[in-house]
Amino acid sequence: MISTVPADPIYFDHHATTPCDPRVVEKMLPYFTEHFGNAASLTHVQGRKAANAVEDARIAMARFFAVQPNEIYFTAGATESNNIALNLVQPGEHLITTAVEHRSILAPAWRLESQGVELTVLRPDSEGFIDAGRLRDALRPNTRLVSIEAANGEIGTLQPLPELAAVCRERKVLFHSDITQAAGKVPLDFASLDLASFSGHKFYGPKGIGGLFVRRGIKVPPVIVGGGQEKNVRSGTVNVPGVVGMAAALQLRALEMGDEAPRLTALRNELRDRLVSGIEGVSVNGPRGLRLPGNLNVSFERVEADSLIVAMRRFSLSSGSACSSGQHGPSPVLTAIGVPEALAMGSIRIGLGKSNRGEEVAMFVDDAKRVVARLREISAA
Ligand code: PMP
Repeated sequence: MISTVPADPIYFDHHATTPCDPRVVEKMLPYFTEHFGNAASLTHVQGRKAANAVEDARIAMARFFAVQPNEIYFTAGATESNNIALNLVQPGEHLITTAVEHRSILAPAWRLESQGVELTVLRPDSEGFIDAGRLRDALRPNTRLVSIEAANGEIGTLQPLPELAAVCRERKVLFHSDITQAAGKVPLDFASLDLASFSGHKFYGPKGIGGLFVRRGIKVPPVIVGGGQEKNVRSGTVNVPGVVGMAAALQLRALEMGDEAPRLTALRNELRDRLVSGIEGVSVNGPRGLRLPGNLNVSFERVEADSLIVAMRRFSLSSGSACSSGQHGPSPVLTAIGVPEALAMGSIRIGLGKSNRGEEVAMFVDDAKRVVARLREISAA
């Protein structure tokens, strides 16, 4: 019998998540079965094997980031890491963040504000950049922490972290960065950071595992209390296979990122140019340069993004952050950079990754031409 099951659509949503690399899965497998010990059970071999694997992973990750192993704490992901980092700020102190941050920064920031923390949310320019001068002007004598992402997951903007961090260091204010979208994709200078959050599944590692870099000497109060694991920064039995997998994924990125970034940049530029020149009424959101290699965000005039995404059935696409999908209304990131509502509602985010090839870009442009023309015809009728 001939199978009628259609192939999965081509994945163009690598900002939402990435597939776990099979080489990573292979490294993880023994830690579910053979080496199943609890990394806190140091009284027996099974536990010590698990603890050794966790410490080896910590060393590997620290080497990749050029930090000390005891500055890396394992968590369940960037959401948790962001919450822990912001938890440093006490009522009566001042927190600065930006309007283009992920919800896992903005939601805890708003909650802290309701608990008596002073909050400033900086506005970006029209490409999503945060200006160091504006940051300097926003600092107050009681500013405790500034949190600015390394890269935006919708429009790809790469923030000038060393410059922003220098402003903070000058005034002895802690600087945290949510590096979730940038880690393993572009080089990062940890020397300028005091704290940084990341998630394994954004760089071809497993989901549900992440980490927080905390520069030595900085004390972070835990969000979750319990058994005191991870030096009390994050209680709970350590996810050993996850930690092993995340470190293996990052080690692969160290080998592959250098070649992949220019390849994805070229692929993205080709896609952008062919969409803009081949379809009337297409505009690009976010910066032209200084942007995540695989990221593209485009608005189609007189088209609803939701209809476009459904009609482009050969591709997996999204209109914005997966964590905000299901919410109606324009993307807060696009609103913050001044994209008018009607255009923002016709915007899609494309995240190219390891598996994507030139033929897929050509296919996408062909499909988009047809689909956009049809949707415009329907809406004009
Ligand atoms: N920060 C950014 C910039 C992200 O893109 C994401 C995931 N979309 C997160 C934080 C949260 O990561 P996780 O869902 O793995 O906790």
